[in-house]
Amino acid sequence: MAIQAPKGTKDLLPQDAYKWQFIEAEWKKICKEYGFKEIRTPMFEATELFNRGIGDTTDVVQKEMYTFEDLGQRSITLKPEGTASAVRAFIEHNLYAETQPTKMFYDIPCFRYEKAQKGRYRQFHQFGIENFGTDSMLADAEIIALGYDFLTRMGVGDIELHISSVGCRNCRPKHREALQDFLRPKYDELCETCKSRFDKNPMRILDCKSDKDRELVKGAPMMLDYLCDDCKQDFEDLKSYLDAMNIKYVVDPTIVRGLDYYTKTAFEFITTKLGSQGTVCGGGRYDHLIEEIGGPDMPGVGFGLGKERLLMLMQECGFDFGEAPAPQLFIAWIGDEAKSYAVMLLHELRSQGISAEIDTKERNFKGQMKFANKTGAAYTAVIGEDEVKSNEITLKNMETGEQTKVKREDLANAL
Ligand code: ATP
Ligand code: MG
Repeated sequence: MAIQAPKGTKDLLPQDAYKWQFIEAEWKKICKEYGFKEIRTPMFEATELFNRGIGDTTDVVQKEMYTFEDLGQRSITLKPEGTASAVRAFIEHNLYAETQPTKMFYDIPCFRYEKAQKGRYRQFHQFGIENFGTDSMLADAEIIALGYDFLTRMGVGDIELHISSVGCRNCRPKHREALQDFLRPKYDELCETCKSRFDKNPMRILDCKSDKDRELVKGAPMMLDYLCDDCKQDFEDLKSYLDAMNIKYVVDPTIVRGLDYYTKTAFEFITTKLGSQGTVCGGGRYDHLIEEIGGPDMPGVGFGLGKERLLMLMQECGFDFGEAPAPQLFIAWIGDEAKSYAVMLLHELRSQGISAEIDTKERNFKGQMKFANKTGAAYTAVIGEDEVKSNEITLKNMETGEQTKVKREDLANAL
């Protein structure tokens, strides 16, 4: 059997690439408008970074990492998310010593060994954004606003924003105790993974994907009811900034982010249009992550936005990506002399920034015209003996069939 792409991966074919390029260009644009600069980090990191930076009670670290030993016996992991790498680079290059905050964005492939299904892949792609160095809720509100504006520009603005607070080191222990008391009688019925979380990180049980566990946690005590005064005030501030920007949200105490390092703000943009893979964007605050990874005690906030899920949702909402890009001009020729002229003209126009195309299969004239149609070129120029002599080119508008004669030196302008 012919070799196929690995399970959970997808090829992006040339006829679809322009849709990806569109969202990527828009992503860069909005990040620039909001004052975020790009960071590019390696596709793989030392495994230790993710054990520390994501947390060993998470699904990602417990079950989903692509980890292998390289030929130098180092344990290497393909990046399952972007934040840990951004933090590592922030520390390694002493960016914390500069004026804060540090605002960065990225566009990365991520790798997770998951059960492959619609909207869930083993290689997927994320837009991400981070703000390191400020504990003000202005930063949280800014990040949420960027996500909201971006999704609105992508035509999916009716997606729901869910926000919550997962508290801090002061108030979480009380909730944890209450949650353990609530879950203790149901312990035997929990899935194996959740049993292992009971002592170490019971809040994670609220995020279990198994239907049975979801049923079991119904009615569990919610972190929002246990917030300390500081966390309460921050949550109020966040809501007031979102209100000021007229950004609609739902307070949803069930939002528990999948990663250990989150504190205070947690949010997700959720749609009902993609079945159970409805979270398009998720993020929050992680005030202890930088220190955890070996840097100074500095707060941070950020989000990750899945590109595949975004594109699926845009498609679902009937977003108009326009036509796939096509050449402005196709140049056809009749005869050898005309062919040389065509090649010269092609090169001349391309160097002036015109997208021009020629038939590199050298079909006969009829074949070239058929191919011209296939390429979707806006105009076709036919080069024959007359054109070579007169330096005057006949341009055919492929949509209307209308023909005009244009001097060679005016061609680029005419197009
Ligand atoms: P989920 O609850 O769906 O597993 P998550 O909490 O693991 O998501 P994050 O780690 O917050 O997801 O990643 C941010 C975003 O990346 C998600 O909101 C989603 O859009 C996307 N994403 C995560 N895992 C996958 C995957 N396996 N395939 C495609 N997209 C994904
Ligand atoms: Mg997941």
